[in-house]
Amino acid sequence: MALSEKKLWVFDVDNTLIRDVEHPHPFDDALQLWDYLLETGRDVAALTNVGRLSARTINHVLKVAGFKLDLDHTFSAGAAAAAYIHNRNPSARCFVISEGGATEDFIARGLEVVNNPPVDYVAVGADRGLTFPRLNFAAKMIRDGAKLICISGSRDYPGIYLGIEDIYIGERSIVAALEDATDVESVIVGKPLPEILLETTKALGYSPNEAVMVGDNPASDIAGGKAAGLTTVLVRRPDNIVPFDSQGLDQSPDHTVESLADIIKML
Ligand SMILES: [Mg+2]
Repeated sequence: MALSEKKLWVFDVDNTLIRDVEHPHPFDDALQLWDYLLETGRDVAALTNVGRLSARTINHVLKVAGFKLDLDHTFSAGAAAAAYIHNRNPSARCFVISEGGATEDFIARGLEVVNNPPVDYVAVGADRGLTFPRLNFAAKMIRDGAKLICISGSRDYPGIYLGIEDIYIGERSIVAALEDATDVESVIVGKPLPEILLETTKALGYSPNEAVMVGDNPASDIAGGKAAGLTTVLVRRPDNIVPFDSQGLDQSPDHTVESLADIIKML
């Protein structure tokens, strides 16, 4: 199917639509393409690997930045992790390490979020307020048999927290400590896991070959989109590429553009 015939356009958020969720300045080329797609009857969605904010918060951030976007078209890594667990065990008891966003996504999905045993899943998102007792409790629950989920897979990321602008270690690094302590390997739920892209297209009523994944990151957006059967568009952004593990997937995009406005000419 030609690019012009695609019905669903799924966009990465950080460094594709806006600089990042804590500096939500929109990119002009992203706004131009977004509005063009809507005006011409295409469907648009946002899919982010950010797990520290809920889908509801990310939707709000994007709307304030100028993107017309429905909440049910906004997908966070926390929501994806909740769907992943719910698909396997809808009554799972989950201990969630998060700044609150993933916890909200888990509750919205109907999962039980607990702070006491027994625990079926330990799910870890970035958490800049993480305490040793919570980390230690997570390790204990994993040793007792809980499965370990990494909500997205960033080792570190730029952000601003309690007024301090810095580079912060991400969920992947927190999970590495738990893996080391327990000898249990995590499942990373977030791009590039193809199931996330498949869930997103299915939730909106499309098949993967009707959809396009647009992002700045070959290791997450392109690798995941391609593995799930979506057409992939890489937009070159000069910096702020967050490190992800492509997990051996093909990272070569179907299309590469310097500006998202260039896509309009291709439609
Ligand atoms: Mg990005």
